[in-house]
Amino acid sequence: MSRVERSPLRYFKFCPRCGRQLRISKVDGHPHLKCDQGDFVFFQNPHSAVSGLIFDRRGRVMLVKRKYNPKKGFWDTPGGFVGWGENPKQAVIRELREELKVHFQPQDLSGIFHDWYDMFNLRYSVYNIYYTGTISGRPRPASDVAAIRWFPLNRLPQKISFSHIRRALRHYRTTHQKKS
Ligand SMILES: [Zn+2]
Repeated sequence: MSRVERSPLRYFKFCPRCGRQLRISKVDGHPHLKCDQGDFVFFQNPHSAVSGLIFDRRGRVMLVKRKYNPKKGFWDTPGGFVGWGENPKQAVIRELREELKVHFQPQDLSGIFHDWYDMFNLRYSVYNIYYTGTISGRPRPASDVAAIRWFPLNRLPQKISFSHIRRALRHYRTTHQKKS
């Protein structure tokens, strides 16, 4: 399925505020779903997700194996979606506490990478925000994590869940390469 076919423009039918029909109309020059009554515009702005880049003393990166779909059994960076009203730093601390039962101390913003996230036959546009940082405590997998493992950056697993992870790790390698 193409990006357009999975766009909310094709799937959302009714105004969540008053229940009238939603129609595609241009708002500020861009197509958006707008309520017939005019009391609601569905802005399909990107969602935000956060990830922690954590390395051990040998420079290996921590990846977690996804226990559930989408991408069940694939390797992922630990993290998740930013909540309503939450700032990204708070979100990454909360997500890593939930997922690994550790306290994550964010250090630097490593980068922001766009990707698509497919769920329930809809395609979401997502900004993935990466923080490097350190953890205190021994990581233990939460109920949605099948395994936690450290990987050398030049020997990443084949089954990586999303392309932004490879891009984020490549970016990290490029910016942290030792000049020798
Ligand atoms: Zn309405």
